[in-house]
Amino acid sequence: MGWEPITKAGLSGSPPNLDDYDAVCARFSWKDARAAMDGLPDGRGLNIAHEAVDRHAAGPLRDRVVLRCLDRSGAVTELSYARLRDETGRFANVLRVLGVHKGDRVFSLLGRVPELYVTALGTLKNTSVFSPLFPAFGPEPIRERLRLGDARVLVTDPELYARKIAQIRDELPGLKHVLIVGGDETPPGTVSFREIMDGAAPGFEIPPTDPEDMALLHFTSGTTGRPKGAVHVHEAVVAHHVTAAYALDLRTGDVFWCTADPGWVTGTSYGIIAPLTHGATLLVDAAEFDVRRWYRTLEEQRVTVWYTAPTALRMLMRYGTEPARGHDLSALRFVASVGEPLNPEAVVWGEEAFGLPVHDNWWQTETGAIMISNYASMEIRPGSMGRPVPGVEVALLDRGADGRALVSPGGQVTVARGPDAEGELALRPGWPSMFRGYLHDDARYAKAFAGGWYLTGDIARRDAGGYYWFVARADDVIKSAGHLIGPFEVESVLMEHEAVAEAGVIGRPDPVAGEIVKAFVTLRPGYRAGEELRRELIAFGRRRLASLAPKEIAFDQNLPHTRSGKVMRRLLKARELGLPEGDVSTLEQHHDQEEDR
Ligand code: AMP
Repeated sequence: MGWEPITKAGLSGSPPNLDDYDAVCARFSWKDARAAMDGLPDGRGLNIAHEAVDRHAAGPLRDRVVLRCLDRSGAVTELSYARLRDETGRFANVLRVLGVHKGDRVFSLLGRVPELYVTALGTLKNTSVFSPLFPAFGPEPIRERLRLGDARVLVTDPELYARKIAQIRDELPGLKHVLIVGGDETPPGTVSFREIMDGAAPGFEIPPTDPEDMALLHFTSGTTGRPKGAVHVHEAVVAHHVTAAYALDLRTGDVFWCTADPGWVTGTSYGIIAPLTHGATLLVDAAEFDVRRWYRTLEEQRVTVWYTAPTALRMLMRYGTEPARGHDLSALRFVASVGEPLNPEAVVWGEEAFGLPVHDNWWQTETGAIMISNYASMEIRPGSMGRPVPGVEVALLDRGADGRALVSPGGQVTVARGPDAEGELALRPGWPSMFRGYLHDDARYAKAFAGGWYLTGDIARRDAGGYYWFVARADDVIKSAGHLIGPFEVESVLMEHEAVAEAGVIGRPDPVAGEIVKAFVTLRPGYRAGEELRRELIAFGRRRLASLAPKEIAFDQNLPHTRSGKVMRRLLKARELGLPEGDVSTLEQHHDQEEDR
């Protein structure tokens, strides 16, 4: 089905930040982009928190509202740049007093409350490393990430502590300090966030920060093995800033709403850092998706730039365009989406509902910032992710039998050329927000590169106009409601249930969430498949994994295996979709060769 290109982005008023794609690409350099940052005074380096907070707090924007947080009841807390400088200064002093040093990891497990933002930026001020956890994770994924990330400090709230941390605390001897936000009492072994903050001074001079110092740790998933901790450095702020200007058309004075939770990379790069570096007001909503609330928020908060996700847009689409038309969305200037394939219908629906098309863009945890995007000034081809951001070189690499880029024994790759080229999407290293490693896993990091390219694990196509189109993931990871889920993590937990001998987990296509997690399980002798056990396994998964838990369970005493004994998820998926199973012997072979990248 053909979709007409959308040539008018519906923008009025001043021209977009990126007004002429080819001209900007031709003159762009990362060195120039870096010049938009102030750097720490006296040449003491580059620190994200200085660029996001302190430099504005010392200038004409000092009294501007930088953070406007809506709590679940709709009550508003506002912080100016000056106030945010003081609060983050206090938090940095708290860390100093606690003996938390440069490079030490400070985790958050919080709803979207002001203290989350203070924790993130205060941690960066202290040159410690901020690692946000998605609060909907269950205790298992939380423990795994705290352990892998060597958590020294955790900031959480009483409810999350009771439900998810208390039971795993003993297993985390390195976790020295737990600070509790809100509530009347602090559980034993924890400290009140408010009390310790009240005792700390607001003034804090950011110590010298090397742009290559580790700043952020985001966990992501691969096909096999544990979650991977992607390491990002302070230099990344250069990419956060410039990509927000180009791909999101963000400017000083905007009211910017990023619906992603900071537990995911989008919610940090664009849900904390980029709007602050730009002098925009960051709107934060603590509540979950709710159609009426979202339209009301867009209207009442006079949101100008909105960054959301395909699942959310598809949920809005189910209610038609009427609810949108019933609201005054005249402040809205730009709508963008990320995280999973955005169907062309949703792009076009945006035009009908908001009078603005949705601009899809593509990136991932490892890239730290938007890499491919549709821009305000450019024709949109509905269904396409757009074109590379200035300063980023993209290629499609020819693929081998395992679906990933074909790497010769000498480590070389070949670039697919010509109109409608297809291959593994690859990026030339060198942009500032590129991950600098997987924590404690140099081998996995090394495997992510070949022939001078970073291999993304996505398969894409490029049309004759230079637009990139998402084709598929080259591996078995699952994308559900925009969240990346590693099947191995889910299988491991299911196999801890006494009835389960083995599990294979896949993403089953879903019209709203993109994919949902489906598990196939083989039972141990003595257990009988049936509705009761199915329900028990679903509940078990939910207790341990929460948002990562399988939504569907099927019993299968004959799971297909590779010769080395691994469950063949690909074959399970082919069967689920009613696709040809292909040549099984080849599948077995290629699965045997598949290594976790
Ligand atoms: P994450 O690292 O959790 O941000 O997930 C990154 C992955 O999400 C990418 O490698 C893609 O598979 C998928 N993804 C992100 N943005 C898009 C998009 N615009 N279209 C299709 N897939 C996307």
